[in-house]
This record gives sequence, structure tokens and C-alpha cells, in this order.
Amino acid sequence: MGYAIAEAALAEAHEVMLISGPVNLQPPDNAKLISVSTSDEMFDAVHRYADECDVCVLCAAVADYKPVNISPTKIKKRGAKFPLELVPTRDILDSLGHQQDREFVLVGFAAETDHLEENAAKKLRAKNCDIIVANDVSDPNSGMESDENEVTILFRDGEKKKISRAQKKFVARELVKIFSNFATKRFDKKNVMIN
Ligand code: C5P
Repeated sequence: MGYAIAEAALAEAHEVMLISGPVNLQPPDNAKLISVSTSDEMFDAVHRYADECDVCVLCAAVADYKPVNISPTKIKKRGAKFPLELVPTRDILDSLGHQQDREFVLVGFAAETDHLEENAAKKLRAKNCDIIVANDVSDPNSGMESDENEVTILFRDGEKKKISRAQKKFVARELVKIFSNFATKRFDKKNVMIN
């Protein structure tokens, strides 16, 4: 969805900075692309640029855990079991949501398999963002492995909007309109940067 949102924002003449992990997708020509490989690099890059933006959309499926030890060389085969110690990664959305002097609009995503709206609303409050885009990933026709998506958008004041199943390109266009209108109302200005 991140690449589709970036394309849709560029089509609406917004300035776009795309911070992306390794993916098999062609980045849009006119976006400023920052490529990262790890969750820590993504954390640092997002924090470096977030204050320059009017809207930050965080939709990357960042790993929840990372290995404690990283071997610079090939790990030799040993016994049958190979315990791997993992620690939680830092939550970028949560850290931006709790940034004291935040001025940009913060949008998060919530991929849920059950109690979609209830769980997404909890995430909206816990991570202190302005908007959460929820999608049901238990449905094989929606979300990550599909070209189509169907989402529910939740706002802090309890307002809710739905985008019915459609091509991701179309869903992205509708999302950009929603983010842009929200930001325009908040900042009372027309040109917003979508990150
Ligand atoms: O808690 P959960 O991972 O389901 O929340 C999803 C949201 O949090 C997405 O917007 C995702 O980009 C963001 N996220 C993050 N940093 C992480 C993990 C998830 O910003 N380490």
C-alpha cells in the first residue's frame, strides 16, 4: 500500500518522500526515495524527516523482533537445534505518536485478523495517532498478498469511513484525498507533503 499511496499522492501534486525497506517494486519517479534495510535504519530515517512533513503515513510491515546477535560471517551448521534470541524492535508509529511537539498528521495502519474495528481503535489510542487505516488480513482477497484491498478508516473523534473492495491504486487515491482533507482542515493550507 505504501507505494500505491506514494503514487497517488504524487498524482495529486503532493511532494513525496518514500522511506522503504527492500521490496520488489519500482519506486515512483518523482518521489524522494530513502532506502533502508533494518527496522533501526527505518526508525532513524523516519525520525530524521518526519518534522519536515505535513502528513506521515506509516504503513510498512516492520518486523516486531530482531536478533540479539548478528554474525558478520556465515554461521556454520551445528547440532539439530539452533536457538535464536530475539528482542522487540522499536515501534516507530508509537514513538512519533508520543513525540511532544508533533505538528504533522500521523497515520498508522492496522492489519487485523479479528475484531477489526475494536483492535484498530485500541491501536489508534495506544499509539496516539490521528488516523488509523484498518484492514482485515484474514480475508485472502484483501491486504498484503492481494492487488485489492478494503479498508476502514478510524479518526480520534470516533468518525469512521469505509472504502469498499477495490484495486489498491483506487483505495490509495481515496486515502490520499482523506489524509489531504484532514491535513488541510488542520493546517488550513492547501499543499501538504505526504510521507
Ligand atoms: O502494532 P502493529 O504492528 O500491528 O501496528 C501496525 C502499525 O505500526 C503500522 O502503521 C506499522 O507501520 C507500525 N509499526 C511501526 N514500527 C514497528 C512496527 C509497526 O511503526 N516496529
